Amino acid sequence: MNERRRKLGEERSAIRELFEYGKQRAKEIGKENVFDFSIGNPSAPAPDCVKEEIIRLLNEVPSAQLHGYTSAQGDPAVREAVAEYLRKEFGAEISANHIYLSCGAAASLTVVLNAILSGGEEVVVLAPYFPEYRVFIEGAHGVCKEVMTDENFRLDLTALEKAITKNTAAVILNSPCNPTGVVYREEEIKALASLLNKKSKEFKKPVYLISDEPYRELTYGAKVPFPASYYDNTIVCYSFSKCLTLAGERIGYLAVNDRAEDADALYAACAGAGRDLGFVCAPALFQQVIKKCIGMTSDIGVYEKNRALLYGALTDMGYTAIEPDGAFYLFVKSLEPDANAFCERAKKHELLFVPSDSFGVKGYVRISYCVPTEMIQRALPAFEKLAKEYQK
Ligand code: PLP
Repeated sequence: MNERRRKLGEERSAIRELFEYGKQRAKEIGKENVFDFSIGNPSAPAPDCVKEEIIRLLNEVPSAQLHGYTSAQGDPAVREAVAEYLRKEFGAEISANHIYLSCGAAASLTVVLNAILSGGEEVVVLAPYFPEYRVFIEGAHGVCKEVMTDENFRLDLTALEKAITKNTAAVILNSPCNPTGVVYREEEIKALASLLNKKSKEFKKPVYLISDEPYRELTYGAKVPFPASYYDNTIVCYSFSKCLTLAGERIGYLAVNDRAEDADALYAACAGAGRDLGFVCAPALFQQVIKKCIGMTSDIGVYEKNRALLYGALTDMGYTAIEPDGAFYLFVKSLEPDANAFCERAKKHELLFVPSDSFGVKGYVRISYCVPTEMIQRALPAFEKLAKEYQK
């Protein structure tokens, strides 16, 4: 047995653990009495286009064709549609033959990491970061190197510069960010691009930028720069999980910038990694749904409303948080130094949120607000009681 994998399977992620606890607790005391803010399961209904296209496809396309294997990289017409969208939306120079349809951003990330790592190289992650990055990096035989962001969770270029060595294969960037909701500004992306160009030149090999973008469309006024337009050696990892509320359907893509060094070889390595990992092809039915619905976004009004409600109410109660610009998470300072202890205390009020330790920082909790607004309203007295306990 592979001990590392056995351990991974046994421990599960802190987030999944809480999610399971919440379901158990709901059985015991009623769903309406549990305030589960643990998991980022998108809740805004998918646009009508998704349902209509599924029905049309089921009615009009012969099943053997609709549900059959596609080419490993994905149906060429769907890849064309993705390339066209990226060109129109961002002026991207990414052709269809550099797009690989995947089972979501998680699959895109594992494929890319397995494509670029041979063993022992470092991949820089910006703390606080999505905890699965470490699992994916180590699974691809790389070393996860944490670099802290600054006090407002923005890029700390000085810390990054120190951390990037000739053993660095890539930096993972996630904007809008899970768990902080930060959207990196254009000047930050430009500065990062300039640093990576300098380092690539110094080490005479590209330091890749892996741009993990599952929340690209989930913003509340902030403009999200497209990193591939600023840095040639960028590989985009994207997913339709959040923008079309399709998280369980496992559909996304990776895209190698046409201007990346040896882009064709890099793309071939991605296809090879996909093969190695046994992905075969992305779900065929949803490839077709994407072809039709690309560019559409679920109505994120509910997240916007929840964000305002939760941020406003919690800061009024004395909690400290930065106002998120995107995604659907609020990163709140724990009311005691140990965020785990704070979460345990919150559980006594049936409030479930994730301690920040697994995100690579201490002393915060992540609250997912992709939940029904009325649940937030019902939970506010519990937040108030919890805050009061610390004011005594
Ligand atoms: N990257 C980040 C930052 C995420 O938050 C998530 C999911 O929550 C993923 C990747 C994985 O997304 P997907 O469901 O598309 O695999």
